[in-house]
Amino acid sequence: MPFRNRYTGLIDRYRDRLPVSDDTRIISLGEGNTPLIRLHNIPKLLGKQVDIYVKYEGLNPTGSFKDRGMTMAVTKAVEEGSKAIICASTGNTSAAAAAYAARAGITAFVLIPDGKIAMGKLAQAMMYGAITLQIKGNFDDGMRLVKEVAGEAPVTIVNSVNPYRLQGQKTAAFEIIEELGRAPDYHCLPVGNAGNITAHWIGYCEYSSASGEHVTEACAYCNGKCAYAGGAIVGNRPKMVGYQAAGSAPFLRGHMVDHPETIATAIRIGHPQSWDRAWNVMEESGGWFAEVTDAEILAAQKMLTQYEGVFCEPASAASLAGAIKDIQSGKIPEGSSLVLTLTGNGLKDPDTAIAQCQGKATLLTIDATLDQVKRAILDNMR
Ligand SMILES: *Cc1c(COP(=O)(O)O)cnc(C)c1O
Repeated sequence: MPFRNRYTGLIDRYRDRLPVSDDTRIISLGEGNTPLIRLHNIPKLLGKQVDIYVKYEGLNPTGSFKDRGMTMAVTKAVEEGSKAIICASTGNTSAAAAAYAARAGITAFVLIPDGKIAMGKLAQAMMYGAITLQIKGNFDDGMRLVKEVAGEAPVTIVNSVNPYRLQGQKTAAFEIIEELGRAPDYHCLPVGNAGNITAHWIGYCEYSSASGEHVTEACAYCNGKCAYAGGAIVGNRPKMVGYQAAGSAPFLRGHMVDHPETIATAIRIGHPQSWDRAWNVMEESGGWFAEVTDAEILAAQKMLTQYEGVFCEPASAASLAGAIKDIQSGKIPEGSSLVLTLTGNGLKDPDTAIAQCQGKATLLTIDATLDQVKRAILDNMR
């Protein structure tokens, strides 16, 4: 007898809404089904009546939401007979590609910016056995090279220009609606390449149209690939709010940025691939883009760990940093419900975390004596 109630990943869970057939061999590591954690302490600190939930995507198998897209992209690549995948990455896509390729028994080639990815992500790509090409350039250079080489070598691109990536990633919106019973008023997330904000919108649109809400216009986000391409709906959908790091904010500048800089390396992208689609998402959802500084990002990251016990990587904290500003300014009014995507796990980037805490009172070096331990306890009770 097979075990019946095992969770076997998001493709199996949402099979009827994804482009797979009964014969498709699914390449899964049990991704998806991540916790939606209600914040208890931060709204109080802000002194505002807001209902904030964080979708902790850092608990996916390789520690970021990229697994949602990668299970779909690698499943389809294998189905189509591909023996190798390739991607450019700021780190998390390479970790996910490497893991799912290992699972499938195919080769992963990953292009990463030399010296500009977090240590955990580099460890993952190497450990999972991807052929890791560190390029003397940034993510945007890598992306250009990947697109060029895919025309000339037998490799499938698994960046979010691969439409199956967004199909997998849209399931995060399904999970949120199912857990809350409806869409939140606002969905806030960090924006780099802008694939994830697009994928969430596809998910919210499909879910509302499947539940029979009023259909008004053609779905502009999936190039006719989604199951509900005939019409998108207005109704049970959030306003989508995308936050960018100030040094890496093409959507705020209104044009591509050639030398993006931010400590949040996962969103250090100046030439987003989903430019048009992300603008459409903003307009149609009634949302907006805003920017946050590196200092605000780090402060939000620390706030989440110290007041809520949730450790995300710097890029992920951009969603909280931005939401705090918009709540304090009143742009997000009291009485609202918000979901913030925490895109990746804090353990991905130990260097940034340790640097933030160095020299702080929480790291003490003492003699190995009872007296000193006791004093440390009594001096440091909250
Ligand atoms: C990829 C990534 C992002 C950006 O997502 P896009 O789809 O490129 O906008 C944000 N945070 C983390 C941790 C990521 O890995």
